[in-house]
Amino acid sequence: MTSIDSTIQRIRSGEAEGSACSPALADAPWTFDLLTPGYGPGSSMGDLIPTGSPRQGQLPEVYRTASNDELDARISAAKQTLGDRVVVLGHFYQRDEVLKYADFVGDSYQLANAALERPNAEAIVFCGVHFMAETADILSSPGQAVILPNLAAGCSMADMADIDSVTECWDQLTALFGTEPDASGRVPVIPVTYMNSSAALKGFCGDHGGIVCTSSNASAALDWAFERGQRVLFFPDQHLGRNTAKAMGVPLDRMPMWNPNKPLGGNGADELEDARVILWHGFCSVHKRFTVGQIESARAEFPGARVLVHPECPSGVVDAADAAGSTDFIGKEIAAATEPTTFAIGTEINMVNRLANQYPQHRIFSLDPVICPCSTMYRIHPGYLAWVLEALVDGDVLNRIVVADDVAVPARIALDRMLAARPGGSVARVIGD
Ligand code: SF4
Repeated sequence: MTSIDSTIQRIRSGEAEGSACSPALADAPWTFDLLTPGYGPGSSMGDLIPTGSPRQGQLPEVYRTASNDELDARISAAKQTLGDRVVVLGHFYQRDEVLKYADFVGDSYQLANAALERPNAEAIVFCGVHFMAETADILSSPGQAVILPNLAAGCSMADMADIDSVTECWDQLTALFGTEPDASGRVPVIPVTYMNSSAALKGFCGDHGGIVCTSSNASAALDWAFERGQRVLFFPDQHLGRNTAKAMGVPLDRMPMWNPNKPLGGNGADELEDARVILWHGFCSVHKRFTVGQIESARAEFPGARVLVHPECPSGVVDAADAAGSTDFIGKEIAAATEPTTFAIGTEINMVNRLANQYPQHRIFSLDPVICPCSTMYRIHPGYLAWVLEALVDGDVLNRIVVADDVAVPARIALDRMLAARPGGSVARVIGD
């Protein structure tokens, strides 16, 4: 099985054709330890890591210089020594070289729930990004330590909405609309945050009558919010919010965008008054790369190809695809295909590559011809995993992610509302359905 990492290395050495979105992707992640404030190689945006985000120190030399085989032996030995005391979680977008050590593989919410299945594990090592580790800490029991092997594994989308900017937005909306419910009992605005957000924003939703959603249940969360509010403030991903609301029949001209750098988000009071969903100006730098032109090229080359994309893609891409849905949805669609099929996929490249290896009876490829993994998740390398696991063997907890109670308690309320809304809900849109 050829991994994305090895393909990137082979492209650099000239052994393989193709291109990556940054030549620095071929460099070891510890090259970028201590180097701030960038998101690291492969990031397709110039945003800076926000002040106050955790910073990864230099990985000790023994892990930087170890061969892959040595790291393999060290990780395996540490896991064996720790046994049930540790559970390793791996996100679908994680590199294969790390994912092979995961006890559970899934999306962010599946993984947070997987952690609950190991209540006796003292440590949860989350091979994902920062907001996922925070969610795991909120949902896990107090005695469990959640560890992020590389603190530089943030999420550029999650960082596009911070608690200060959202609070400022909320204050402006409250000043405009007031807080009194209308005749049907619906308050002026309900906040809805995507799982891909800081714990502080989940807590904000818990404190202000709002809810969390995932890409699998965003329509259920919006239904819940529309029952209680005249309009929704959706953050941080404009695309998931727009695609979900559009599929529910909300017209695009009733979904103004909120730019936190402008008064009233850059909107007129009338536009906000008429809004059904106010979309935060956030996006995923990975999913934003997919285009309608790529879909047209895929269909021209492979007539009959089935195009599946993630709802973090722009709405034109979702409209042009055959179906859009979460990572779980995409995986299930492919698993359900009984005849050899060509699938052109619009989501993170490590997951697409894994699906292609898993289902050799199908032709499965990424819509984006350029290899561009999630640059922050890519910062987790087996060297960091070996480092935190061996520290655990020695009784040291490194890189622990802790959500303070004043945030965790309301965040848990917003997460519980999501579960109560309709846990099995799906935003998946299949053309023809
Ligand atoms: S793929 Fe996009 S949304 Fe997901 S963790 Fe990476 S940057 Fe964040």
